[in-house]
Amino acid sequence: MQQAQYQLIIVGGGPAGLTAGLYAARGRLKVLLIEKGTTGGQVLVTDWVDNYPGFTEGVSGFDLIDKMTAHADRFGLEKKFATIKSLQLAGDVKTITLENGEIFTAKTIVLCTGAKPRQLDIPGEYEFKGRGVSYCATCDGPFYRNQEIAVVGGGNTAIQDALHLTKFATKVTVIHRRGELRATKILQEKAFCNQKIDFIWNTQVKEIRGDKNGVAELLLSHHAGEESILKVTGIFALIGISPNNELLPLDQLQTDKAGFIVTDEEMATTVPGVFAAGDIRSKKSRQIINAAGEGAVAELSAERYLGNQAPDQPLNCSE
Ligand code: NAP
Repeated sequence: MQQAQYQLIIVGGGPAGLTAGLYAARGRLKVLLIEKGTTGGQVLVTDWVDNYPGFTEGVSGFDLIDKMTAHADRFGLEKKFATIKSLQLAGDVKTITLENGEIFTAKTIVLCTGAKPRQLDIPGEYEFKGRGVSYCATCDGPFYRNQEIAVVGGGNTAIQDALHLTKFATKVTVIHRRGELRATKILQEKAFCNQKIDFIWNTQVKEIRGDKNGVAELLLSHHAGEESILKVTGIFALIGISPNNELLPLDQLQTDKAGFIVTDEEMATTVPGVFAAGDIRSKKSRQIINAAGEGAVAELSAERYLGNQAPDQPLNCSE
């Protein structure tokens, strides 16, 4: 039978992947984490995290990821920064082929590929992407100093980011398709009390318009039937997420309607030896703490699947 190079390969280096990596490295598995960019995922572009237990004063997304990465590194987690071309998940030995042609094999896989911002899918969005249309307040907020901008969405991301954007913009208009926000109450309270934030309810953006300088105005469609124009130089579309599943063999994995991977409560997918954790999983609550917790559960399940094989690593008596 073909021998696998690794006992476990983790795909993706956000909170789920880093936690799975930490657990696997501490469990002395022969483990590799493959990440296409830099570790962190969506948390890296989260301005402030106020609900991760233990950080009593809150922590920036960047610092939280820095600590998670350092924590896994302390136990010697092997990482490879490269783009995956394809995955073969069926059978005893799973194969991952990178775009550079390198091939890695493992007995088990934990998929932590996360999610990305959903697009509005309206005229002008593509044309003005990077010239007034943004999906990341932490990345692009400083470009809108002393300007009037809009945020679309009513969830935690939209409201938290609207608050963040008031550090730069003179006015932030939140455009929401319903008459009440989905965001957690403490964020709602902060936003309603913030003098720089206005709300337009029961409204959707129909078109983004501009010129050679970038975005200039939004055509709004109000549910009552009428339309109006809102003059802004930037629009942040923060309307939820879609799964990073393009690389995954979706014919082999069960997914929900939106394309998120279905697992059981042990994070096992429908493919033996393949587990999933974090935002790529089909679930109702998406929090950093969930992602980290699921990463731990997925790794422990992978260890069980491996049958508690003897550790591959030499004894280290210095710890
Ligand atoms: P979300 O919770 O799914 O909210 C998406 C928002 O966008 C909703 O208000 C939704 O409206 C609106 N929306 C969706 N499609 C739209 C469209 N085509 N046009 C206009 N509006 C649209 O997404 P999220 O805020 O990005 O959060 C993603 C996950 O991360 C959630 O589980 C969230 O709790 C979590 N998160 C947590 C924190 C935190 O704990 N601090 C921070 C950020 C994110 P409806 O309300 O009408 O559906």
